[in-house]
Formats: sequence, C-alpha cells, structure tokens
Amino acid sequence: MIQMKMPGVTIYQSTLMKTTSTLIETPDCLIVVDPGWLPDEIATIRRDVEIVRRERPLYVVYTHAHFDHILGAYAFTDAIVIASKPFIDVDRQEALQAVQDFNDEFYIDSPVLFPDVTHVIHESETILTIGQTKLIFFLTPGHEATHLSFIVMPLHLLVCGDYASDVEIPLIEHDSSEYLTTLELLESFIYEYEVKLLIPGHGHICDIRTEMIERLHQSYDYILALRAGKESDWAPSWQTTPFMKRLHEKNKRQVKKEQEERLARRHYD
Ligand SMILES: [Zn+2]
Repeated sequence: MIQMKMPGVTIYQSTLMKTTSTLIETPDCLIVVDPGWLPDEIATIRRDVEIVRRERPLYVVYTHAHFDHILGAYAFTDAIVIASKPFIDVDRQEALQAVQDFNDEFYIDSPVLFPDVTHVIHESETILTIGQTKLIFFLTPGHEATHLSFIVMPLHLLVCGDYASDVEIPLIEHDSSEYLTTLELLESFIYEYEVKLLIPGHGHICDIRTEMIERLHQSYDYILALRAGKESDWAPSWQTTPFMKRLHEKNKRQVKKEQEERLARRHYD
C-alpha cells in the first residue's frame, strides 16, 4: 500500500505495524530503505524499482538490524547496500532467527538472509555523493544499537528510521541516554538541512517542520518522565492499545535496568 507518492519519493506502508519502506528516485540513482514486510509488499517495491530504474544504480539502506527492517534483503541481493558498522557486527544468527520465526509463524516461504553490506558507515556525517545526489549519514543509536539515519540532498529528506513515529511510543531497546542524544541530533538536522519531509520507520510522514519538532519533543518528554519515574504524557496520536502498553512497561524495565547498572558502576568506582 502506498502512503504517499510525490516526484522522486514513494513511501510504502506495510499492512503490519504501519512500517514504512521508501523508494527515492534521483537522476543519479535509486535508493530503497528498509524493504518490508510481506512477500507481496516486497515484490511490489522490487517491481516498482525495475519500472523506473533505467540503468541507474540501486542502493538499499538498512536503518537498523531489527528483523522487520531486514527481512526484505532477499529481494535486493544485487543492490549496493549501506548500513552502519555496528550493523555488520550484530549477532546475525539472532537477527536471522527473528526473521525465520516470523516466516514460520505465518507460513511464509521467503528466503532468510542477512544483508551483505557494501558501504559501511563508521561515523556520523559520512557523506556519499552520487552525481548530484548527496546522502549524509548519522549514527543514531538509542532505539537500537545499530541505528543510522540519513539526509538526502537536494531533496531535503530526513529518513530517520525508528524515531519520530506518530503511532507508537519511543521504543528504547538500546539506551535511553543515547536515545535522548539522538533526538537532539535529529532536531538539529531539521534546521540545518531545512528538512521538507521526515520519514519515520513506523507511522506517517511529516512535511510540516513544527510538527516534526513536536514529534521529537513528545518523545523527549516521554523518556524524561520515564527516567524520573513519573507516568509519561502520551502524544495524542500514539496508540493506547494493550500492545502499546506492554511496550511501555518494557520501556520502564529498560530504564530501571539502566539506572541499576549506573548505580552498580558508581559503587564499583
Ligand atoms: Zn526497530
């Protein structure tokens, strides 16, 4: 299903968890981000790539190694693949097992393979220039340790991955301090690169700058409240389902674990 299409950018929205996959088309190249989830959805993205391709190189960027973002890798083995250094160091067996478990649960026969990364992003502000197209990558851990986000110029796009969602709460599966730092970084990009379109990994795109900032601030406030042991205010658009509440409880456990670790370190010092 297509969530939004404008010249040069198509945002696909999966039936599952409003996960977005993005196809960016510039005169120099095609860039696909996190192709997922279901076989027909992945096949549609691949087909659309071939329809518009015209000899241009195909890049695939994986924002992070969570299984819902890598399970489409089998359909793009011929692409030039970009991901972070922590991404290539991740426990592949574990990542692939999560893909396999998903396939098994839903009787899906798709191949299960880990992306073969061509360009490794070692540090923030790594720039990849392809003709007139410029991709500026930033390491953005916090949600997950391998996470990266990137800017596409001259389109002024911010592909932020699993941040700034309007449908789900911030999911802290790595580190809440890093998460806060990443949110600050993302906010600075919005000003610095005059971002016109923010693309989250789950939920709806945003083309109004004040709303982009608001989404980041809501996430920030949510995490600060969590760390202070208070009940966080939820953004009105975040789901309030039992599933989301379970994720909220998981966040609480994560923050508690971090605080205990900090305390233990202090005792040790
Ligand atoms: Zn994720």
